[in-house]
Amino acid sequence: VMQQQNQERLLKVLVIGDLGVGKTSVIKRYVHEVFSQHYRATIGVDFALKVLNWEHGSVLRLQLWDIAGQERYGNMTRVYYREAVGALVVFDMTRLSTFQAVLKWKGDLDSKVTLKNGKSVPAVLLANKCDQSRNGLCPKLPKLENFSRQYGFVDWFETSAKDNTNIDAAITCLVKSILSAE
Ligand code: GDP
Ligand code: MG
Repeated sequence: VMQQQNQERLLKVLVIGDLGVGKTSVIKRYVHEVFSQHYRATIGVDFALKVLNWEHGSVLRLQLWDIAGQERYGNMTRVYYREAVGALVVFDMTRLSTFQAVLKWKGDLDSKVTLKNGKSVPAVLLANKCDQSRNGLCPKLPKLENFSRQYGFVDWFETSAKDNTNIDAAITCLVKSILSAE
């Protein structure tokens, strides 16, 4: 079968992690290029679309799924995860508890969705709010390099939605990994 060029593809990407880590901020920064101190926590699931002109004339429609209100339970329903092809797992570098929740989120993801070929969905780890790490860096954070490899993340990035640090890099890394995972 000939590979169709100039194709358009929809990629469902989940953004998960504890309340207040900056999930909504990361999405708004990436899609709308803005940052605010106050995003209202709309209850339910919301998503934003970013259209990427990718290699070889292909177009990727990246659908970023945000969650609000359900974070406190530390898990989501299978319906939410259905047909996802990638995930950003976000924690707040200044709050250890949100880092400790990372494995819970990764476990929830892996237990509820896999790719069509049976492999786990590519996930990138975001250590967000790195702009604050000088005052508030959590001293107990392990080496993320080892941690992310050990627990099956594609890669990890220190990010700031506020200063626009590494948001693009992290999502581009995820997209590349999504495309090579199939
Ligand atoms: P969510 O609950 O995971 O969606 O988190 P929000 O995106 O609502 O962010 C929670 C709070 O953290 C808000 O006051 C944001 O302005 C703030 N915040 C988010 N990202 C950053 C960041 O990179 N740096 C700093 N300093 N604050 C951030
Ligand atoms: Mg939010």
